[in-house]
Amino acid sequence: MSYIDNCDWSTCTLCGECLMRCPVMEMDKDEAKSEIGCLLKGARAPCIQ
Ligand code: SF4
Repeated sequence: MSYIDNCDWSTCTLCGECLMRCPVMEMDKDEAKSEIGCLLKGARAPCIQ
């Protein structure tokens, strides 16, 4: 079972905090919100490939 299968993604508020706080990704708020939105739609996220 993968990480993504262990989370209830329907509760995600698309706040972007997870990507903003990541010391590797170093995203600003607008970018993080956009990226998590893409990921949850199953779309390719421009900065996370
Ligand atoms: S965007 Fe990230 S931190 Fe915000 S609710 Fe969704 S998974 Fe959690």
